[in-house]
Amino acid sequence: MENSPDIIVVGGGGSGLATAVSAAEHGANVLLLEKQPALGGTTGIAVGSFTANGTRLQERNGIKDSPESHEMDSGRFATTDIEARNNNALRKFFLSHSADTLHWLMDMGLSFHGPNPEPPNRVPRMHNVIPGAKAYVATLHARLVNIGGTVRVNSPVQRLLRNDNGAVTGVAVLYKDGKETEFFASRGVVLAAGDYANCPSTISRFKGDRYASIEGINLNAKGDGHRLAESAGAKLLNMDVTYGPELRFVPPPGKTFQQLLPKSGVGARLLGHLLPFIPQFAMNAMISRLLVTWQHPESSLFDDGAILINRKGERFCDETLWPEREIAVAAQPEKECFILLDRSLAERYSQWPKFISTAPKIAYAYVADYLRLRPDIAVQSPSIETVAERHNIPADALHKTIEATNNARTSADLKPFDDLRWTILGPAKAYFTTTEGGAAINQQFQTLDENGRPIPGLYAVGQTGLGGQILWGHGLHIAWAMTSGRLAGRHVAQLRFE
Ligand SMILES: Cc1cc2nc3c(=O)[nH]c(=O)nc-3n(C[C@H](O)[C@H](O)[C@H](O)COP(=O)(O)OP(=O)(O)OC[C@H]3O[C@@H](n4cnc5c(N)ncnc54)[C@H](O)[C@@H]3O)c2cc1C
Repeated sequence: MENSPDIIVVGGGGSGLATAVSAAEHGANVLLLEKQPALGGTTGIAVGSFTANGTRLQERNGIKDSPESHEMDSGRFATTDIEARNNNALRKFFLSHSADTLHWLMDMGLSFHGPNPEPPNRVPRMHNVIPGAKAYVATLHARLVNIGGTVRVNSPVQRLLRNDNGAVTGVAVLYKDGKETEFFASRGVVLAAGDYANCPSTISRFKGDRYASIEGINLNAKGDGHRLAESAGAKLLNMDVTYGPELRFVPPPGKTFQQLLPKSGVGARLLGHLLPFIPQFAMNAMISRLLVTWQHPESSLFDDGAILINRKGERFCDETLWPEREIAVAAQPEKECFILLDRSLAERYSQWPKFISTAPKIAYAYVADYLRLRPDIAVQSPSIETVAERHNIPADALHKTIEATNNARTSADLKPFDDLRWTILGPAKAYFTTTEGGAAINQQFQTLDENGRPIPGLYAVGQTGLGGQILWGHGLHIAWAMTSGRLAGRHVAQLRFE
């Protein structure tokens, strides 16, 4: 019965789809409710890396690995003060199930490139889904529909339904036409509603007002899951911890190359079979395209003398200070900025070890890559008027900014700009990539109240159910979304009631 399934999953991104598929594979009748017109969430706009240990791909490459060693290395990505707040037991539990999750996805038809190295991981652990993260969404969705799960899009869950004992029994969806419909679940409600990267009120509450005007990359990441969990009494952990803010170039108009590749069905399987025969340089070229899509410019650019200007051609901050730089960018017209490089800087950022952006040790994107692959955000010319005109920046204001910058550059290591050739990269904005706060959970994915007691009927996975883990570095968020979903779906489906 659609209105009274065994399990209701709130959210159709990576963790929600994984929960629903796993629950249906274990015999449950599942209803997945997605707020947006399409499935995907942040998972659907991600790069797609999945970091895991003890995988078949590692074994094939002669790499020996273990959850213990992975856990040790995972603690080396965040700063010491942030890492001190990690839920060690939960992260170790997660990492000991990551390979099984990757194999589950591979058996469903997904293909991965790698493993790729990412220090301080001591061995290569990063597996990159082919052709990109939308493949997770397409494959899991197809599998869910094949095994009888029900998906309803345009269905924002507004509140949780609870019985007199406080147990969560279902959800209420508020439709666009103002009508509310209640859905009841006999075994449980799983919150898989992503993060709050674009929820100014939650960001202000936990991180401070000065961060409130910084956007999330995913404009739909509104923290509904956290709000729903809290409304049932769940404790929220590490809510002030965020991945970012950081500067990122705005996305390209239209579809990227990866988005045009097949993500499921025969086309995707063929791509997977061809994978071992695709030479490394071609894979790197493909990944380079991803790099110029959502990557952030390296901060070393500013240490080396690049400046930020706004749409009026003005400089507005000390570019070397984080997060003041990002906060200042969010206060500029249209929340945008541009990076100005002179000829010598552009030449330095044209070869290793200086690069504009990177996926560490996989590929690097230089000035020329941006000029070739992102002409919408990269312009170069001997004339300052030409580069300014491209973005409707007043050239006379830019001249004044350059003059003032040069006058202030008295130090020997920061040379005044030469005026032989100019490059402008942008617009870029300050974004939160993800937020790292989540509901407290146990290893059965039950949400926990302030006293550590499970809230009956309410489960949380993915970014909503981070449970106090610190998952910095590349590839752990998707690995957690998929692993928590797979395990939670199985667990809730197998619940037996007297
Ligand atoms: C540009 C970018 C690149 C990234 N690349 C990587 C990467 O390569 N590797 C990696 O590990 N991580 C990456 N991340 C992070 C990672 O993608 C996410 O943390 C992860 O995919 C989140 O999965 P999720 O299922 O928790 O949330 P989501 O995928 O965001 O899914 C949540 C879903 O819930 C829905 N929802 C929300 N509220 C409601 C409601 N009230 N009712 C119904 N539905 C609701 C949303 O619409 C959404 O579809 C990246 C992030 C960004 C922004």
